Amino acid sequence: MTIAYIAIGSNLENPQARVERAFDELTRLPRTRLSARSSLYRSAPVGYTAQPDFINAVAEVDTALGAHELLAELQAIEARHGRRRSVANAPRTLDLDLLLYGDTRIDEPQLVVPHPRMHERAFVLEPLLEIAPHAAIPGRGSAAACLAGRADQKVERIR
Ligand code: AMP
Repeated sequence: MTIAYIAIGSNLENPQARVERAFDELTRLPRTRLSARSSLYRSAPVGYTAQPDFINAVAEVDTALGAHELLAELQAIEARHGRRRSVANAPRTLDLDLLLYGDTRIDEPQLVVPHPRMHERAFVLEPLLEIAPHAAIPGRGSAAACLAGRADQKVERIR
């Protein structure tokens, strides 16, 4: 079994309910137990800023799935939420990112772990640290130290 962390984000079509539903869907993954869920957070969009705020959260799972199998399950959940891929950082009904998979490092075209931008995103680091205060990002150091450099990003815990 491997402990993995998944970032959940949505900014369209009732994002709070969608993030809650995503947690429920993670409880139904095969050979996987949802072992922790963060609060929900609100963050301003990054990159393309003329779009609604995001609701973000992080889930911890204990899984017997391999990293690629887990990614495929996450993409199936995204697809059920009607996610259409358009431009980078566009509005999205549901985005699920595999942040960490144990202390494994993967660098392939379709899967990069740790997620390549997680260390610079307060909307990922804050919920991650809520449920895993000692989390380390292989190759980057402690998640807490990464967050310390991101005080400029506004992330609000909503519940
Ligand atoms: P995005 O539009 O940001 O959700 O990116 C989705 C694409 O990123 C998919 O084609 C995935 O194969 C790829 N990808 C690479 N690494 C990861 C990861 N750690 N988590 C989720 N998607 C990933």
